[in-house]
Amino acid sequence: MSKEKRLFGTFGVRRTANDVLTPEFASRLAACYGTQIQGTVAVGGDTRTTSPMLIEAVKAGLLSSGCDVVDLGILPTPAVQYGVRKYYDGGVMITASHNPPKYNGIKFLDEYGIGIPDDMELAIEELYFDSEPKRAEWFEIGQVYKNDKVIDEYIDEAISNVDSDAIREANLKVVVDCGSGAGAYTAPYLIRKLGCDVTTLNCQADGFFPGRDPEPIEENLQELISVVKELNADIGLAHDGDADRTICIDEKGNFVLGDKTFSLVEKQMLKENNGGIIVTTVATSQAIYDIADEYDGEVIATAVGDLLVARKLHEKDGLFGGEENGGLIFPDFVYGRDAVMTVAKILEILAVEKKTLSQLVSELPVYYASKTKIECSDDLKQKVMDSIAEEIKTTTDFNLDLTDGVKILKDDGWVIIRPSGTEPIFRCFAESDNQQKADEMTDWGISLIKKYKQ
Ligand code: MG
Repeated sequence: MSKEKRLFGTFGVRRTANDVLTPEFASRLAACYGTQIQGTVAVGGDTRTTSPMLIEAVKAGLLSSGCDVVDLGILPTPAVQYGVRKYYDGGVMITASHNPPKYNGIKFLDEYGIGIPDDMELAIEELYFDSEPKRAEWFEIGQVYKNDKVIDEYIDEAISNVDSDAIREANLKVVVDCGSGAGAYTAPYLIRKLGCDVTTLNCQADGFFPGRDPEPIEENLQELISVVKELNADIGLAHDGDADRTICIDEKGNFVLGDKTFSLVEKQMLKENNGGIIVTTVATSQAIYDIADEYDGEVIATAVGDLLVARKLHEKDGLFGGEENGGLIFPDFVYGRDAVMTVAKILEILAVEKKTLSQLVSELPVYYASKTKIECSDDLKQKVMDSIAEEIKTTTDFNLDLTDGVKILKDDGWVIIRPSGTEPIFRCFAESDNQQKADEMTDWGISLIKKYKQ
């Protein structure tokens, strides 16, 4: 990256709410964004206690810069992205996604509903710190509108993209856990409209997240797992705080890894469309490549980050993409991780294939993963990566992928060493055809880091 960013992270600004992320901060930042957009901007937020406060501040900043504002209310991030792509010149989403309740964040969108590009982020920071945003004259101040129809359109369009008759006929029993996040406004309605028997958990919007932590990881989903088993449900579904990620629990109560969900949907999308471009990150499973080989897909791997995947899908007119954490992207619908389309598609797969989720997962290519991390000070990270890449190049014939960190590809698996952007650590992931080899590969990766971080 040519220039250091002063505020923006991988997707927007995320901070402790009302400490760093005050209304004054949000308003000025929104005015800087509005200076760039100069059009009609949609604004939405997740269910956090601080979201209404920040929504009003962002609206004021946008109006001040001369933009018109459309208030979409409280809704999932992908619903805002959907609305922006369809109707508006830009969008702002107030959310801290899966982070604990005290955090909040601001995501800025371009006219396609994709997170704004790096150059616009730098321009906004420059206005924020070194100059002044546009402050419109009294007669140029924008108008405020409301649109409370976007959620219904968003749900209905997702339904129109799948075989809803097949889903209805399958009489699926579904348990959905929205973690009191923004999915509470979409997921239960979507599943009911698809004719399923739906049981809701934590589907009351609540910024204290009383039922569970907003991050949909296995340890936070124990209640969902036991309800799925208790009710003999066909599937359990869980979302994060802003409902862009989806995690599945199979009919036996097993937590399904995001890699598996990705592979399952990828297979279906490629089959239905006779191939296409699949975009994912360098840290996702070989299974994605195996399925692409079998069903005429072409895989493009980006550096880690959902925004990079979304941009690449847009640029290459891709078919489907996503990450290993349950964030799946259907670019014909929303240029970002989307939960309603993911849920509709997975229910369609269950209905059309007439198999249980555990059966479908067992038919996917099997790989074993190993993940670990090691401390390394930020100033040594580049040297460590350069030295490892140099050693591999000169002493082995393994292939190297330097898209993000150092990925070493061997015949029987791969290992990637990636510097964290926010902490003084390296993450080391490996994947192979058995667990012992995967563990050995992470051990090897860690030993390489240790050798050069002295
Ligand atoms: Mg999220």
